[in-house]
Amino acid sequence: MSVTTDPGVPLCDLQQQYRELQAEIEAAVGRVLASGQFILGPDVAALEEEVARYCGAAYGVGCGSGTDALLLALSALGVGPGDEVIVPPFTFFATVGAICRLGARPVFADIDPLTCNLDPVQVESKVTPRTRAIIPVHLYGQCVDMEPLWQTAERRHVILIEDAAQAIGAEYQGKRTGTLGAMACFSFYPSKNLGTYGDAGMVVTNDAEWAKRMASLRVHGMEPKYYHKHIGWNARLDTIHAAILRVKLAHLDHWIALRQAAAARYDALIERYHLTGFLQRPVVRPKRRHVFNQYVVRVPAGQRDALAAYLRSQRIGCEIYYPVPVHLQECLAYLGHRPGDFPASEEASATVLALPMFPEISEAQQRRVVEACAAFLRQRARLVA
Ligand SMILES: *Cc1c(COP(=O)(O)O)cnc(C)c1O
Repeated sequence: MSVTTDPGVPLCDLQQQYRELQAEIEAAVGRVLASGQFILGPDVAALEEEVARYCGAAYGVGCGSGTDALLLALSALGVGPGDEVIVPPFTFFATVGAICRLGARPVFADIDPLTCNLDPVQVESKVTPRTRAIIPVHLYGQCVDMEPLWQTAERRHVILIEDAAQAIGAEYQGKRTGTLGAMACFSFYPSKNLGTYGDAGMVVTNDAEWAKRMASLRVHGMEPKYYHKHIGWNARLDTIHAAILRVKLAHLDHWIALRQAAAARYDALIERYHLTGFLQRPVVRPKRRHVFNQYVVRVPAGQRDALAAYLRSQRIGCEIYYPVPVHLQECLAYLGHRPGDFPASEEASATVLALPMFPEISEAQQRRVVEACAAFLRQRARLVA
Protein backbone atom coordinates (compact mmCIF):
# COMPACT_ATOMS: atom_id res chain seq x y z
CA MET A 1 0.00 0.00 0.00
CA SER A 2 1.44 3.35 -0.97
CA VAL A 3 1.42 6.22 1.47
CA THR A 4 -0.85 8.34 -0.71
CA THR A 5 -3.74 5.88 -0.49
CA ASP A 6 -3.51 5.71 3.31
CA PRO A 7 -6.89 7.00 4.48
CA GLY A 8 -5.58 7.84 7.96
CA VAL A 9 -8.09 8.13 10.78
CA PRO A 10 -10.79 10.78 10.36
CA LEU A 11 -11.97 12.84 13.33
CA CYS A 12 -15.52 11.79 12.52
CA ASP A 13 -16.69 9.34 9.84
CA LEU A 14 -20.32 9.78 8.79
CA GLN A 15 -20.04 7.51 5.76
CA GLN A 16 -20.10 4.14 7.53
CA GLN A 17 -23.32 4.93 9.33
CA TYR A 18 -24.91 6.18 6.14
CA ARG A 19 -23.96 3.04 4.23
CA GLU A 20 -25.47 0.84 6.97
CA LEU A 21 -28.79 2.72 6.96
CA GLN A 22 -28.81 3.85 3.34
CA ALA A 23 -31.86 1.84 2.20
CA GLU A 24 -33.96 2.88 5.20
CA ILE A 25 -32.95 6.54 5.01
CA GLU A 26 -33.54 6.83 1.29
CA ALA A 27 -36.94 5.18 1.67
CA ALA A 28 -37.87 7.68 4.41
CA VAL A 29 -36.73 10.65 2.32
CA GLY A 30 -38.53 9.21 -0.71
CA ARG A 31 -41.77 9.04 1.24
CA VAL A 32 -41.49 12.72 2.16
CA LEU A 33 -40.72 13.69 -1.45
CA ALA A 34 -43.76 11.75 -2.66
CA SER A 35 -46.02 13.20 0.03
CA GLY A 36 -45.32 16.82 -0.88
CA GLN A 37 -45.50 17.79 2.82
CA PHE A 38 -42.12 19.42 3.16
CA ILE A 39 -42.92 21.99 5.84
CA LEU A 40 -43.96 20.74 9.30
CA GLY A 41 -45.25 17.49 7.85
CA PRO A 42 -46.33 14.48 9.93
CA ASP A 43 -42.75 13.28 10.48
CA VAL A 44 -41.98 16.50 12.40
CA ALA A 45 -44.77 15.90 14.92
CA ALA A 46 -43.80 12.23 15.18
CA LEU A 47 -40.14 13.07 15.81
CA GLU A 48 -41.10 15.67 18.43
CA GLU A 49 -43.08 13.04 20.27
CA GLU A 50 -40.37 10.40 19.95
CA VAL A 51 -37.50 12.64 21.10
CA ALA A 52 -39.57 13.94 24.04
CA ARG A 53 -40.37 10.36 25.03
CA TYR A 54 -36.72 9.33 24.65
CA CYS A 55 -35.76 12.11 27.08
CA GLY A 56 -38.63 11.39 29.46
CA ALA A 57 -40.24 14.80 28.85
CA ALA A 58 -43.68 15.86 27.69
CA TYR A 59 -43.12 18.12 24.66
CA GLY A 60 -40.67 18.57 21.81
CA VAL A 61 -40.60 21.57 19.48
CA GLY A 62 -38.59 20.89 16.34
CA CYS A 63 -36.64 23.78 14.85
CA GLY A 64 -34.01 24.67 12.29
CA SER A 65 -30.85 24.15 14.37
CA GLY A 66 -29.45 23.99 17.88
CA THR A 67 -28.96 27.75 17.62
CA ASP A 68 -32.66 28.21 16.83
CA ALA A 69 -33.46 25.99 19.82
CA LEU A 70 -31.51 28.34 22.12
CA LEU A 71 -33.17 31.40 20.59
CA LEU A 72 -36.63 29.84 20.93
CA ALA A 73 -36.13 28.83 24.56
CA LEU A 74 -34.82 32.27 25.57
CA SER A 75 -37.54 34.02 23.53
CA ALA A 76 -40.26 31.91 25.14
CA LEU A 77 -39.13 33.33 28.49
CA GLY A 78 -39.20 36.81 27.03
CA VAL A 79 -35.47 37.33 27.64
CA GLY A 80 -34.39 40.70 26.23
CA PRO A 81 -32.66 44.01 26.95
CA GLY A 82 -31.94 44.52 30.66
CA ASP A 83 -31.87 40.80 31.38
CA GLU A 84 -28.84 38.73 32.33
CA VAL A 85 -28.21 35.08 31.48
CA ILE A 86 -25.42 33.10 33.15
CA VAL A 87 -23.28 30.89 30.87
CA PRO A 88 -19.84 29.30 30.86
CA PRO A 89 -17.33 31.05 28.57
CA PHE A 90 -15.99 27.64 27.51
CA THR A 91 -18.65 26.56 25.01
CA PHE A 92 -19.52 26.82 21.33
CA PHE A 93 -20.29 30.43 20.48
CA ALA A 94 -24.01 29.76 19.79
CA THR A 95 -24.82 29.43 23.50
CA VAL A 96 -23.70 33.00 24.09
CA GLY A 97 -24.63 34.42 20.68
CA ALA A 98 -28.29 33.56 21.26
CA ILE A 99 -28.33 35.66 24.46
CA CYS A 100 -26.70 38.66 22.75
CA ARG A 101 -28.95 38.40 19.66
CA LEU A 102 -31.95 38.95 21.95
CA GLY A 103 -30.36 42.05 23.46
CA ALA A 104 -29.66 40.44 26.83
CA ARG A 105 -26.31 40.36 28.60
CA PRO A 106 -24.28 37.16 28.97
CA VAL A 107 -22.76 36.87 32.43
CA PHE A 108 -19.95 34.35 32.51
CA ALA A 109 -19.23 31.81 35.23
CA ASP A 110 -16.08 29.69 35.01
CA ILE A 111 -15.84 25.92 34.56
CA ASP A 112 -14.76 22.95 36.64
CA PRO A 113 -11.13 22.58 35.46
CA LEU A 114 -11.38 18.77 35.31
CA THR A 115 -14.62 18.21 33.38
CA CYS A 116 -14.70 21.55 31.52
CA ASN A 117 -18.35 21.86 32.55
CA LEU A 118 -19.96 24.90 34.20
CA ASP A 119 -18.99 25.07 37.90
CA PRO A 120 -22.13 25.62 40.04
CA VAL A 121 -20.03 27.27 42.78
CA GLN A 122 -18.94 29.98 40.31
CA VAL A 123 -22.57 30.49 39.26
CA GLU A 124 -23.84 31.31 42.73
CA SER A 125 -21.99 34.65 43.04
CA LYS A 126 -23.10 35.77 39.57
CA VAL A 127 -26.83 35.75 40.23
CA THR A 128 -28.36 39.24 40.45
CA PRO A 129 -31.97 40.51 40.45
CA ARG A 130 -31.58 40.83 36.65
CA THR A 131 -30.70 37.16 36.14
CA ARG A 132 -33.46 35.44 34.16
CA ALA A 133 -31.80 32.18 33.24
CA ILE A 134 -28.73 29.96 33.61
CA ILE A 135 -27.53 27.85 30.69
CA PRO A 136 -25.55 24.80 31.79
CA VAL A 137 -23.79 23.32 28.74
CA HIS A 138 -23.31 19.54 28.91
CA LEU A 139 -19.98 19.72 27.14
CA TYR A 140 -18.60 16.79 25.10
CA GLY A 141 -21.53 14.60 26.24
CA GLN A 142 -21.20 14.73 30.04
CA CYS A 143 -23.82 16.35 32.27
CA VAL A 144 -23.13 19.40 34.37
CA ASP A 145 -23.41 18.94 38.16
CA MET A 146 -27.08 19.91 38.29
CA GLU A 147 -28.01 19.40 41.95
CA PRO A 148 -26.50 22.70 43.21
CA LEU A 149 -27.95 24.50 40.17
CA TRP A 150 -31.45 23.20 40.99
CA GLN A 151 -31.06 24.74 44.44
CA THR A 152 -29.78 28.05 43.08
CA ALA A 153 -32.56 28.20 40.50
CA GLU A 154 -35.25 27.55 43.07
CA ARG A 155 -33.86 29.94 45.68
CA ARG A 156 -33.17 32.79 43.25
CA HIS A 157 -36.15 32.24 40.91
CA VAL A 158 -34.18 31.73 37.72
CA ILE A 159 -34.87 29.32 34.88
CA LEU A 160 -32.45 26.57 33.86
CA ILE A 161 -32.08 26.03 30.11
CA GLU A 162 -29.91 23.05 29.23
CA ASP A 163 -27.61 23.37 26.22
CA ALA A 164 -27.71 19.66 25.45
CA ALA A 165 -26.49 20.02 21.85
CA GLN A 166 -23.67 17.53 22.50
CA ALA A 167 -25.51 15.40 25.03
CA ILE A 168 -28.69 13.72 23.84
CA GLY A 169 -29.07 10.54 25.90
CA ALA A 170 -26.65 11.68 28.61
CA GLU A 171 -27.83 11.14 32.19
CA TYR A 172 -27.35 12.69 35.61
CA GLN A 173 -28.48 10.70 38.65
CA GLY A 174 -30.46 8.47 36.28
CA LYS A 175 -32.31 11.37 34.64
CA ARG A 176 -31.80 12.24 30.99
CA THR A 177 -30.92 15.55 29.42
CA GLY A 178 -34.19 17.16 28.44
CA THR A 179 -35.48 16.78 32.00
CA LEU A 180 -32.64 18.39 33.98
CA GLY A 181 -33.86 21.96 33.52
CA ALA A 182 -37.05 23.78 32.54
CA MET A 183 -36.14 23.51 28.85
CA ALA A 184 -33.40 21.72 26.93
CA CYS A 185 -31.91 22.59 23.56
CA PHE A 186 -30.71 19.88 21.18
CA SER A 187 -28.82 20.09 17.89
CA PHE A 188 -29.05 17.54 15.10
CA TYR A 189 -26.03 18.92 13.24
CA PRO A 190 -24.36 16.06 11.32
CA SER A 191 -21.57 15.38 13.83
CA LYS A 192 -23.76 15.36 16.95
CA ASN A 193 -24.67 11.97 18.44
CA LEU A 194 -28.05 12.13 16.68
CA GLY A 195 -27.29 14.02 13.47
CA THR A 196 -29.07 14.60 10.19
CA TYR A 197 -27.59 15.50 6.77
CA GLY A 198 -27.98 19.22 7.26
CA ASP A 199 -29.20 21.50 10.05
CA ALA A 200 -31.93 20.74 12.59
CA GLY A 201 -32.66 21.11 16.30
CA MET A 202 -35.30 20.78 19.02
CA VAL A 203 -36.35 22.19 22.36
CA VAL A 204 -37.72 19.70 24.89
CA THR A 205 -39.78 20.77 27.91
CA ASN A 206 -42.48 19.64 30.34
CA ASP A 207 -44.20 23.01 30.19
CA ALA A 208 -47.22 23.13 27.87
CA GLU A 209 -47.33 26.95 27.71
CA TRP A 210 -43.70 27.35 26.70
CA ALA A 211 -44.02 24.55 24.15
CA LYS A 212 -47.01 26.31 22.62
CA ARG A 213 -45.22 29.66 22.54
CA MET A 214 -42.13 28.16 20.87
CA ALA A 215 -44.25 26.35 18.27
CA SER A 216 -45.76 29.75 17.47
CA LEU A 217 -42.46 31.68 17.50
CA ARG A 218 -40.91 29.28 14.97
CA VAL A 219 -43.57 30.30 12.42
CA HIS A 220 -43.42 34.08 12.92
CA GLY A 221 -45.77 33.95 15.92
CA MET A 222 -48.61 33.24 13.52
CA GLU A 223 -51.89 32.26 15.26
CA PRO A 224 -54.01 31.71 13.18
CA LYS A 225 -52.60 32.04 9.66
CA TYR A 226 -51.53 35.63 8.84
CA TYR A 227 -52.49 36.91 12.28
CA HIS A 228 -49.30 37.52 14.26
CA LYS A 229 -49.48 37.22 18.01
CA HIS A 230 -45.72 37.26 18.75
CA ILE A 231 -42.74 38.55 16.77
CA GLY A 232 -41.15 35.29 15.77
CA TRP A 233 -39.09 34.20 12.79
CA ASN A 234 -38.73 31.17 10.54
CA ALA A 235 -37.14 28.50 12.73
CA ARG A 236 -38.81 25.40 11.32
CA LEU A 237 -37.48 21.85 11.15
CA ASP A 238 -37.69 20.46 7.58
CA THR A 239 -39.83 17.32 7.22
CA ILE A 240 -37.02 15.57 5.31
CA HIS A 241 -34.68 15.96 8.28
CA ALA A 242 -37.36 14.75 10.69
CA ALA A 243 -37.84 11.60 8.58
CA ILE A 244 -34.07 10.93 8.56
CA LEU A 245 -33.79 11.55 12.30
CA ARG A 246 -36.64 9.14 13.06
CA VAL A 247 -34.71 6.37 11.33
CA LYS A 248 -31.56 7.24 13.27
CA LEU A 249 -33.17 7.71 16.70
CA ALA A 250 -33.89 3.98 16.84
CA HIS A 251 -30.11 3.35 16.79
CA LEU A 252 -29.03 6.08 19.20
CA ASP A 253 -28.60 3.96 22.32
CA HIS A 254 -26.57 1.37 20.42
CA TRP A 255 -24.32 4.13 19.04
CA ILE A 256 -23.88 5.58 22.52
CA ALA A 257 -22.78 2.15 23.80
CA LEU A 258 -20.24 1.94 20.95
CA ARG A 259 -18.90 5.42 21.78
CA GLN A 260 -18.53 4.44 25.44
CA ALA A 261 -16.68 1.26 24.46
CA ALA A 262 -14.38 3.30 22.20
CA ALA A 263 -13.71 5.76 25.06
CA ALA A 264 -12.79 2.85 27.35
CA ARG A 265 -10.41 1.52 24.68
CA TYR A 266 -8.72 4.94 24.40
CA ASP A 267 -8.37 5.03 28.19
CA ALA A 268 -6.70 1.61 28.17
CA LEU A 269 -4.45 2.37 25.19
CA ILE A 270 -3.21 5.62 26.73
CA GLU A 271 -2.26 3.64 29.81
CA ARG A 272 -0.69 0.80 27.83
CA TYR A 273 1.51 3.25 25.91
CA HIS A 274 2.57 4.93 29.19
CA LEU A 275 1.09 8.25 28.12
CA THR A 276 -0.97 9.06 31.21
CA GLY A 277 1.60 11.67 32.30
CA PHE A 278 1.31 13.39 28.92
CA LEU A 279 -2.35 12.93 27.93
CA GLN A 280 -4.81 13.52 30.72
CA ARG A 281 -7.85 11.37 29.97
CA PRO A 282 -11.44 12.65 30.25
CA VAL A 283 -12.72 12.75 33.83
CA VAL A 284 -16.16 11.19 34.25
CA ARG A 285 -17.93 12.23 37.44
CA PRO A 286 -19.99 9.67 39.42
CA LYS A 287 -23.68 9.08 38.61
CA ARG A 288 -23.28 10.19 35.02
CA ARG A 289 -23.96 8.54 31.66
CA HIS A 290 -21.31 10.23 29.49
CA VAL A 291 -22.28 9.85 25.82
CA PHE A 292 -18.87 10.86 24.41
CA ASN A 293 -19.85 13.12 21.56
CA GLN A 294 -16.16 13.94 21.87
CA TYR A 295 -13.22 12.17 23.49
CA VAL A 296 -11.13 15.09 24.71
CA VAL A 297 -7.69 14.76 26.29
CA ARG A 298 -5.68 17.50 27.97
CA VAL A 299 -2.17 18.07 26.68
CA PRO A 300 0.43 20.24 28.46
CA ALA A 301 -0.15 23.78 27.17
CA GLY A 302 3.14 24.29 25.33
CA GLN A 303 2.83 20.99 23.44
CA ARG A 304 -0.81 20.80 22.43
CA ASP A 305 -0.55 22.63 19.10
CA ALA A 306 2.59 20.74 18.09
CA LEU A 307 0.88 17.43 18.86
CA ALA A 308 -2.16 18.48 16.81
CA ALA A 309 0.08 19.43 13.87
CA TYR A 310 1.95 16.13 14.15
CA LEU A 311 -1.26 14.08 14.21
CA ARG A 312 -2.54 15.90 11.13
CA SER A 313 0.77 15.23 9.38
CA GLN A 314 0.09 11.54 10.06
CA ARG A 315 -3.43 11.90 8.53
CA ILE A 316 -5.05 11.65 11.95
CA GLY A 317 -7.95 13.99 12.52
CA CYS A 318 -8.08 16.05 15.70
CA GLU A 319 -9.73 19.29 16.74
CA ILE A 320 -9.62 21.95 19.41
CA TYR A 321 -13.05 22.58 20.93
CA TYR A 322 -12.63 25.51 21.60
CA PRO A 323 -9.41 27.48 21.04
CA VAL A 324 -10.73 30.88 22.20
CA PRO A 325 -13.05 31.13 25.21
CA VAL A 326 -16.14 33.17 24.38
CA HIS A 327 -15.35 36.05 26.78
CA LEU A 328 -12.26 36.82 24.68
CA GLN A 329 -13.99 36.76 21.28
CA GLU A 330 -13.59 39.90 19.21
CA CYS A 331 -17.32 40.57 18.79
CA LEU A 332 -17.83 40.56 22.56
CA ALA A 333 -15.09 43.10 23.35
CA TYR A 334 -17.89 45.45 24.45
CA LEU A 335 -18.35 43.31 27.56
CA GLY A 336 -14.89 44.44 28.69
CA HIS A 337 -13.36 41.08 29.65
CA ARG A 338 -9.60 40.48 29.74
CA PRO A 339 -7.34 37.46 29.73
CA GLY A 340 -7.23 36.11 33.30
CA ASP A 341 -10.91 36.75 34.02
CA PHE A 342 -11.86 33.05 33.69
CA PRO A 343 -8.66 31.07 34.28
CA ALA A 344 -10.12 27.55 34.09
CA SER A 345 -11.74 28.31 30.72
CA GLU A 346 -8.57 29.89 29.38
CA GLU A 347 -6.50 26.94 30.58
CA ALA A 348 -8.94 24.54 28.89
CA SER A 349 -8.68 26.47 25.62
CA ALA A 350 -4.90 26.05 25.74
CA THR A 351 -4.86 22.33 26.56
CA VAL A 352 -7.88 20.46 25.13
CA LEU A 353 -7.57 18.17 22.12
CA ALA A 354 -10.37 16.02 20.69
CA LEU A 355 -9.23 12.69 19.22
CA PRO A 356 -11.12 10.79 16.49
CA MET A 357 -14.45 9.56 17.89
CA PHE A 358 -17.46 8.01 16.18
CA PRO A 359 -19.45 4.86 16.97
CA GLU A 360 -17.82 2.73 14.27
CA ILE A 361 -14.18 3.60 15.09
CA SER A 362 -12.12 0.39 15.24
CA GLU A 363 -9.57 -0.68 17.81
CA ALA A 364 -6.92 -0.65 15.04
CA GLN A 365 -7.77 2.96 14.20
CA GLN A 366 -7.57 3.94 17.85
CA ARG A 367 -4.25 2.13 18.29
CA ARG A 368 -2.90 4.11 15.38
CA VAL A 369 -4.01 7.39 17.02
CA VAL A 370 -2.40 6.55 20.37
CA GLU A 371 0.75 5.16 18.71
CA ALA A 372 1.11 8.46 16.88
CA CYS A 373 0.86 10.34 20.20
CA ALA A 374 3.60 8.09 21.61
CA ALA A 375 5.78 8.66 18.53
CA PHE A 376 5.35 12.41 18.94
CA LEU A 377 6.48 12.20 22.53
CA ARG A 378 9.56 10.08 21.62
CA GLN A 379 10.47 12.60 18.91
CA ARG A 380 10.20 15.43 21.44
CA ALA A 381 12.38 13.57 23.94
CA ARG A 382 15.05 13.15 21.27
CA LEU A 383 14.90 16.86 20.42
CA VAL A 384 15.39 17.80 24.06
CA ALA A 385 18.21 15.27 24.58
C1 LIG B 1 -23.56 22.37 18.07
C2 LIG B 1 -23.77 23.22 19.24
C3 LIG B 1 -24.69 24.28 19.25
C4 LIG B 1 -25.38 24.79 18.03
O1 LIG B 1 -26.06 23.86 17.28
P1 LIG B 1 -26.33 24.15 15.72
O2 LIG B 1 -27.27 23.06 15.35
O3 LIG B 1 -25.00 24.04 15.02
O4 LIG B 1 -26.91 25.50 15.58
C5 LIG B 1 -24.92 24.95 20.44
N1 LIG B 1 -24.25 24.63 21.56
C6 LIG B 1 -23.34 23.65 21.59
C7 LIG B 1 -22.64 23.33 22.88
C8 LIG B 1 -23.05 22.92 20.43
O5 LIG B 1 -22.12 21.96 20.47
